[in-house]
Amino acid sequence: RYKTMKGYYVPRKAGWDTHGLPVELEMEKELNINSKKEIEEIGIEKFNKLCGQSVMRYEEEWKKLTERIGFWLDMDNAYFTFKNDYIETVWWILKTIWDKNLLYQDYKIVPYCPRCGTALSSHEVALGYREVEDYSVIVKFPHAEKKNTYFLVWTTTPWTLISNVAGAVNKDADYVEVEYKGENLILVKNLLAEVFGENADCRVIGNFKGKSLVSSHYRPLYDYVDGNSNAFSIIGGDFVSTEEGTGIVHIAPAFGEDDMNAGKENDLPVVQMVDEEGKFKERVEKFSRMPIEEANPEIIKDLKERGLLFSIKKVKHSYPFCWRCESRLIYYARKSWYIKTSRIKDDLLKSNEEVNWYPQHIKYGRFGNWLENNVDWALTRERYWGTPLPVWVDDNGHKICIGSVAQLRKMAVDMPRDLDLHRPYVDNIIIKCKKCGKDMRRVPEVIDVWFDSGSMPYAQYHYPFENVELFEDNFPADFIGEAIDQTRGWFYTLLAIST
Ligand SMILES: [Zn+2]
Ligand SMILES: [Zn+2]
Repeated sequence: RYKTMKGYYVPRKAGWDTHGLPVELEMEKELNINSKKEIEEIGIEKFNKLCGQSVMRYEEEWKKLTERIGFWLDMDNAYFTFKNDYIETVWWILKTIWDKNLLYQDYKIVPYCPRCGTALSSHEVALGYREVEDYSVIVKFPHAEKKNTYFLVWTTTPWTLISNVAGAVNKDADYVEVEYKGENLILVKNLLAEVFGENADCRVIGNFKGKSLVSSHYRPLYDYVDGNSNAFSIIGGDFVSTEEGTGIVHIAPAFGEDDMNAGKENDLPVVQMVDEEGKFKERVEKFSRMPIEEANPEIIKDLKERGLLFSIKKVKHSYPFCWRCESRLIYYARKSWYIKTSRIKDDLLKSNEEVNWYPQHIKYGRFGNWLENNVDWALTRERYWGTPLPVWVDDNGHKICIGSVAQLRKMAVDMPRDLDLHRPYVDNIIIKCKKCGKDMRRVPEVIDVWFDSGSMPYAQYHYPFENVELFEDNFPADFIGEAIDQTRGWFYTLLAIST
């Protein structure tokens, strides 16, 4: 406004952020439904149509308010993130990132509600903690080379034992082998009394450091998992606590952050024996199709019968539940797409050097720290109302990223003249793979709404398909004002995308 009053031409294009889970949640509330299954019963087409209508419901109110508070905005030429032109630019940006090899798919552990069929954000998880009573069991992993010898392994989630691929020890801690009731058992030394009780009749027959156990193999409790040469062995892990349990931690990479990282470091297979509804898959014959909570006592019973259960008790602890449907959350490996922002961290820091922050402490404080600790951008959501990720794949694993409507039209087997780029329409477009001739279909994910917002400098002008000059004259912005929370939201996505 100051510059305008000084006689400069200041474009003041209004804009509408229109995609994302908040919109979906409001629509679910209105339709009185609360699961993905119900959305799909209604149909993605109808659901998305309603989402699209709902975001425009308040346009008039906003226009009036904007006028009344004297906010100078060009509401008549506003951009809308759900318009095809906007989405096309976002696709072009994603394709540019793809061409730089910065877009990749990976497993990540997420807090997941099996009933809602979606991951929850950390903010949502924080809403639903409750005190619960769970099993705390110590099981015996039979040593593969030494007869009658077992590793004592502690867990509070017996159902994850089905997907076990390793045991982890603390390399620098002291471990012992003890003789107890005719068997040799291995555990960390300082938990001996806790595990056996003060006066138990056990005799220490060996003392050694955790690292000497590394690479020993054990026989898996269940044989549903296809291992590799590293599977079912003892690995080292600095996350292993010697304060509780047995000092030997069971590792199931599909069900925990530490487990996943340990799995990557030690080249262990990621074994996912639980389906998206929280039930065991069919190949887990003994517990096939059983919800994991119901399977817990069954697994304990089974291990007991086979002489592989050392002890069992109940413990109280705090555990997260879904704030929407009250189901117990599980930590669950989901494949999703990431942008490798960590690889361009130095460039991000350089870009920040060119920003003039007010107040200045934000530059190396709140914002600079955030950049220093950069982690890859978790780009995709398994939802409906958002910019579809423009990646097509076939059965042979060939992938292609589409960067424009024209490119899609050229490659599509059949494409209607006016294609709405949202789901489900875009999901119906099939591409023939150039490498193998198979049908390629779009991956089901939509992208993080924050990517939409951060694409605004380009997408508001439908750059580079139109307005190239206009964009170049206006980029980067001279001035952006926002609240402090946006340092890690919009400011970050603006900077990351343009870097
Ligand atoms: Zn839920
Ligand atoms: Zn192919």
